[in-house]
Amino acid sequence: MFLKKIEMIGFKSFADRTKIQFDQGITAIVGPNGSGKSNVTESLRWALGEQSAKSLRGAKMPDIIFAGTQNRKALNFAEVIVTFDNEDKYLNSEKEVSITRRLYRNGDSEFLINGKKVRLKDVHDLFTDTGLGRDSFSIISQGKIESIFNSKPEERRAIFEEAAGVLKYKGRKKETESK
Ligand code: ATP
Ligand code: MG
Repeated sequence: MFLKKIEMIGFKSFADRTKIQFDQGITAIVGPNGSGKSNVTESLRWALGEQSAKSLRGAKMPDIIFAGTQNRKALNFAEVIVTFDNEDKYLNSEKEVSITRRLYRNGDSEFLINGKKVRLKDVHDLFTDTGLGRDSFSIISQGKIESIFNSKPEERRAIFEEAAGVLKYKGRKKETESK
């Protein structure tokens, strides 16, 4: 499984439809300060279900929608589509898995997996234990290393548990117990 493509429209500084294609192996994104490098990684985290506006450097979720510039009007809608090569059937039985997240300024939002409307929970479940989940250890943003060192033992434990692949079972146990 590997990340193949990120497409965005209206996400942060990416007002126009922007498509970034990745090959297998290492990709580096370079550019001057403020050119949008961090926004690219945030688009991935957002599409995978990030719920904290603060961790996306905003005050509220609609702050991720293109806010306009001196000579361009703000947009009312943001969409990110991330596509994974899943030839090895790591995530599910599909050859390719795409996650779409949309948000409108009025607060309406939706998630799709391979074009089908799903719940946020379905997106979380798909990525639990893959290292791309909610407590992802594969996306380390500026400042994250410090926050891992300063986190409480139970928070740090969650990172190790995701890495070890046991969160899925813990989640299922909790679900069963609550029934
Ligand atoms: P650095 O090298 O300093 O880390 P970077 O390449 O990571 O920079 P980003 O932080 O990704 O840059 O991009 C910041 C830019 O994105 C700023 O110019 C900011 O104004 C713009 N930006 C963020 N949110 C929005 C938004 N909602 N609408 C328009 N522009 C936005
Ligand atoms: Mg940055």
